[in-house]
Amino acid sequence: MDIQLYNTLSHRAERFEPVTAGVVRMYNCGPTVYDYAHIGNFRAFVFADVLRRFFEFVGYEVQQVMNITDVGHMTEDNVADGGGQDKMELAGQRLKEAKKQGVANVSNPDDPYEVASYFTEAFLADGKALRLKIADEHPQRMPHATAHVTQMIGIIERLIEANHAYVTDDGAVYYDVATFPEYGRLSGNTLDKLHTGAGGRVNEEHTAGKRNPADFLLWKHDASHIMKWDSPWGVGYPGWHIECSAMAMHTLGVDTLDIHTGGEDNIFPHHECEIAQSSGATGKPFANYWMHTRFLLVEGEKMSKSKGNFYTVRDLLARGVDAAVLRYELLRTHYRSNMNFTLKGLEDSQKAVNRMRSFIEGASHGSWGGVYSGQSDVERAFVEAMADDLNISAALGAVFKWINEVDTPASEDVAALQRIDAVLGVLTPAEADTSVAPAGISDEEIEVKVRQIQQARELKDYAKSDAIRDELNDAGVEVQISRDGVNWRRKMRLD
Ligand SMILES: [Zn+2]
Repeated sequence: MDIQLYNTLSHRAERFEPVTAGVVRMYNCGPTVYDYAHIGNFRAFVFADVLRRFFEFVGYEVQQVMNITDVGHMTEDNVADGGGQDKMELAGQRLKEAKKQGVANVSNPDDPYEVASYFTEAFLADGKALRLKIADEHPQRMPHATAHVTQMIGIIERLIEANHAYVTDDGAVYYDVATFPEYGRLSGNTLDKLHTGAGGRVNEEHTAGKRNPADFLLWKHDASHIMKWDSPWGVGYPGWHIECSAMAMHTLGVDTLDIHTGGEDNIFPHHECEIAQSSGATGKPFANYWMHTRFLLVEGEKMSKSKGNFYTVRDLLARGVDAAVLRYELLRTHYRSNMNFTLKGLEDSQKAVNRMRSFIEGASHGSWGGVYSGQSDVERAFVEAMADDLNISAALGAVFKWINEVDTPASEDVAALQRIDAVLGVLTPAEADTSVAPAGISDEEIEVKVRQIQQARELKDYAKSDAIRDELNDAGVEVQISRDGVNWRRKMRLD
């Protein structure tokens, strides 16, 4: 099958050719567990999941690896001056505060490993709610950086031996970018441009021993760091970029991966540095296809905590958003377009998912999922669109055109939609949804109020029934009163 993927490395769509026939080895830059991952992070993770499911659907074996960055790293404003703060330490401080307020169940927030484990569990719960297959493969396919320091040290030693890296007097190890002529090929930030300042987003690490401002850290000697390991260059911790090179090659067991993904903000410096390190050490290409998701906007604006438009997955689930609907919303915009997350969009996604669910209603669940065999026109159209650099809009367009044309779904129609859902992942109920309980009023409390409304109405005390209904409305619950009875549902809210 001809699958075209846009490759950031070559700046064009290319036909996908795996290193090993029938197998896709894919690495996705995963979450940094200093906080709950937000929906922008999850857009990239859902993309990786859909990509994996698509390859599986058309018959590939996919070896997917997504890392957990659980080593503490310094905030950007800092580094060698000792002026910055460690992100894991900051996370611990926030967690300590949350524990005091009774909203975080963590016994020792001063222990960075416990902080990391707390946010790893939160990521896995959110990931399972969003039906990420990789979340079920933790920890085998979700390696932790803290468990791979030996492999990182191994690569650093090879880089020093090959003269791609050097040790400074204060025990820091830097990658010497001038020794890697391909540096800049992925991002366009070549060394001559970085020297002249064009697009020169070079992290200013003020270390006297650095040969070139673009040289990046592989190992930092720092015996006072909250997470530290022994190394030939003293007690300290690894640089951020080296973590991914080590985990990708070690966990997948190869020097050259098929696909490497991340958010567009990972292109430079992170992925540029990963290439320099990995190819510098092995002398081989690191990944043949580089795929990057564009940013997610909220109501047309950049998402930020200060703007109050910052959402985590659990925020939205607690506001009554169906996890499958959130997954659908995150996957339905092409990955190379900015995605605009809106309340209107969520409502549209809810309708789309409801439409698919009602299509299969009453069908037996015996044929859930399955592999594409080209049986039906709709599956062929879906696959053809997805094979064109994951053209999800065209793929979903084909599905809904067909759904609207089928008056009464026969069992083969239901089976076709269920097979397509092996890629979309929105029809199957996720058991994990309940792991994030809605905030505020519980279902039981709502049921009690609803019974009070019914009793008040039987006594014709409409003022009382209206008052309780208003109270529920304020708590985010919509109550519908009809001749048939009283129904309720949680309202989706973005505010
Ligand atoms: Zn990475």
